[in-house]
Amino acid sequence: MSNRPRRLCILGSTGSIGQSTLAVVDVNPEFEVTALSGHSNIDLLLQQCLKYHPKIAVVSRSEDAKTLAQSLRAAGSKVEVVWGADALSSAASDDSVDMVMAAIVGAAGLESTLAAARAGKTLLLANKESLVMSGDLLFREIKASGATLIPIDSEHNAIFQCLPQNLAGQSEETTKYVSKIALTASGGPFLDRPLNEFGDITPAQACKHPTWSMGRKISVDSATMMNKGLEFIEASLLFGLTPHQIEVLIHPQSTMHSLVYYKDGSVLAQLGSADMRIPIAYGMAYPRRIESGAAPLDLIAAGSLDFFEPDYERFPCLKLGIDAALQGGTMPTLLNAANEIAVEAFLAGQIKFIEIAELNEQVLTKIPCEPASSLAIIRDADLLARNITKELILKKN
Ligand code: NAD
Ligand code: MG
Repeated sequence: MSNRPRRLCILGSTGSIGQSTLAVVDVNPEFEVTALSGHSNIDLLLQQCLKYHPKIAVVSRSEDAKTLAQSLRAAGSKVEVVWGADALSSAASDDSVDMVMAAIVGAAGLESTLAAARAGKTLLLANKESLVMSGDLLFREIKASGATLIPIDSEHNAIFQCLPQNLAGQSEETTKYVSKIALTASGGPFLDRPLNEFGDITPAQACKHPTWSMGRKISVDSATMMNKGLEFIEASLLFGLTPHQIEVLIHPQSTMHSLVYYKDGSVLAQLGSADMRIPIAYGMAYPRRIESGAAPLDLIAAGSLDFFEPDYERFPCLKLGIDAALQGGTMPTLLNAANEIAVEAFLAGQIKFIEIAELNEQVLTKIPCEPASSLAIIRDADLLARNITKELILKKN
């Protein structure tokens, strides 16, 4: 690995993906952690700094920076503590970094993701919301700087692994060989729950995913299947496919992570345990393979693999995502923003589970879709959708 990129900045290191990334570093000590960031769990960020000795640690608030810096000094650590959104972007573009794991949740990760792309880094992209929002802008930055984008979302990572020469972002080449792709989806915790019992779903039930262990926002998105809606948009952008070339397959076992259908009739799929350390390790070592620490796949223990079509009545958010991919422009940004606010409100006990989809749909009818031609337009669309969603929530209560 001596000439390989290995100096790693992990944005969102205190989250589920961030911790899994550090777990891959634990079994591959040749990687050097040069920057870490956290938003609320400052105690965990302190422990991570003391264990991995990054050059810098980034937090969101100045008061947290002060507390963290004091604790680090008391422990004899020289880690530099910085704070704020600009500090995240600086960390992502610093010369001391080869690879950036973008693992902040939500639109809060947009600027730092773009900064890593602009600086020509190897961008390990878990933060799907930033791609859904920035769309073609992100690919323009990547093209201009020569950055490498490796999708970490398990489905997109699976497709990336199954494509010839890994053609993410190179639509002309991909469409030459590929007729369609299929994104698999577990269906989440409510796949079999009677529809008339959706009214009293609690945040704890929604966050209890049957196959994956993840942060709370993406867990709720998996329960509504908005996650697959966002992933549908993500796939169309990453692989340059039209929405008609992307299908969603419910696969409750989460063993097959996605499939590529070639024009000659061959279908390639990637399989593995439902463990994010696998796509993370693939991204970190690409194009080589390293240990991830994940349990090997046992197909006999897994038993049968089932596949069926999604039901849009049960999962209206999936349909909203597919429609937003078809419309393009600022529509994915509007949907993502409405959804982030609605999920936050659901997790805070302010709205019901079924109201997430209702709010998302309502917000989209109130704001016209525009071409997403600049970051300013995208930011304005994001803010407007957030404000309208908040107003609609206030009116309910
Ligand atoms: P998480 O909630 O566990 O962690 C989120 C991280 O972002 C934390 O480190 C948190 O401190 C940081 N953060 C939150 N708000 C922030 C803000 N305003 N400013 C700066 N930092 C902030 O989330 P996760 O499950 O690790 O997911 C991270 C991203 O990866 C999401 O975009 C998610 O969709 C994507 N993803 C996650 C998984 C998974 O298995 N967890 C799988 C595929 C994709
Ligand atoms: Mg996924």
